Amino acid sequence: MVHVEVSPKLKEDIAHLAIAATHVGQAHIAGTGPSGSTCEQCAFWHLWKKVKVGDEVREVPADAGRFSARHKERPGERKDALCNKPILNKARRKIPASAVACRFFDPKQPESKS
Ligand code: SF4
Repeated sequence: MVHVEVSPKLKEDIAHLAIAATHVGQAHIAGTGPSGSTCEQCAFWHLWKKVKVGDEVREVPADAGRFSARHKERPGERKDALCNKPILNKARRKIPASAVACRFFDPKQPESKS
């Protein structure tokens, strides 16, 4: 997890705090989304896994999962995932579940059980 670099001088400026809180790989500036929302709650936040469908191999959205309870740094926490909002030239870096949501936040729909 890598934050956007902001000069230490600018970090004192309240206008740059949101930029400093933004992770490389986010679609837009952290904190510009709905109040209290995080990337974990966004439909764009997930990994991909390959599944075989007939003779084809396709990539489908996949849950990031959790670290084990004995993980040294982040026991039991959600693993990082990608922001998949299509933005030209956006870095393809994993961001943590706790990243503060941006303006492109799209709430995850509850999975239907049918
Ligand atoms: S809120 Fe959604 S669109 Fe915005 S950075 Fe997080 S995962 Fe990407």
